[in-house]
Amino acid sequence: MTLRVTVWNEYRHERENQQIAGIYPDGMHAVIAAGIREGGDVTVRTATLDEPEHGLTDAVLAETDVLVWWGHKAHGDVEDAIVKRVQERVLLGMGLIVLHSGHFSKIFKVLMGTSCDLRWREDGANERIWVVNPSHPIAAGIGDYIDIEHEEMYGEHFDIPAPDDLVFVSWFKGGEVFRSGACFSRGAGKIFYFRPGHETFPTYFHPQVRRVISNAVAWAAPVARDHPTVARRNPERPLEDMTVTR
Ligand code: ZN
Repeated sequence: MTLRVTVWNEYRHERENQQIAGIYPDGMHAVIAAGIREGGDVTVRTATLDEPEHGLTDAVLAETDVLVWWGHKAHGDVEDAIVKRVQERVLLGMGLIVLHSGHFSKIFKVLMGTSCDLRWREDGANERIWVVNPSHPIAAGIGDYIDIEHEEMYGEHFDIPAPDDLVFVSWFKGGEVFRSGACFSRGAGKIFYFRPGHETFPTYFHPQVRRVISNAVAWAAPVARDHPTVARRNPERPLEDMTVTR
């Protein structure tokens, strides 16, 4: 089955900063989308903050199996009604991949229920992302670790709920560590947070970073099933049938 992916990007840095535009002339979403297209049987569209309804209309979300989210400086400009709409889709089974500074997005915070705050330093030193869960499908083809020559540092404590699965832990030169690849489920939906991707570095051209995002998209695909069931007025079996006879 062909997976339908939407890559959402705030798309402000690239239009306001020459250096960043030099790295991502068509926007980070174009590069992230290209990486996902390389990864398998997918159709990928993009959406950005300044489109009507942030590009996330009911029609677009109805045709989205997995949504990828990059935001940073304009989290506050994302309308609450759209956040609610995305949250509802996740609870019904749409996958969500949250990248880098998306840790502070409204959608990630509402789905986590915590501050999602963290320690950070924009020094451009190297990052080593260790695979701590080699049997996990998101780590497929990654080897022992990913080295990124220049990145921003994120450090613990990262204020998220304990993840269902932790796939990657990052090490930084300042001695910090960070839970950089974390899996969650909410309702019928799967969520993966992946740390690297500061806008001033060409991180989304890195082949292993692209592989992780593609793996995560495949992992987060909705599980085929009927509409998730909710509370029923009556149990399916009368209670008296469930009485244990001694
Ligand atoms: Zn950053």
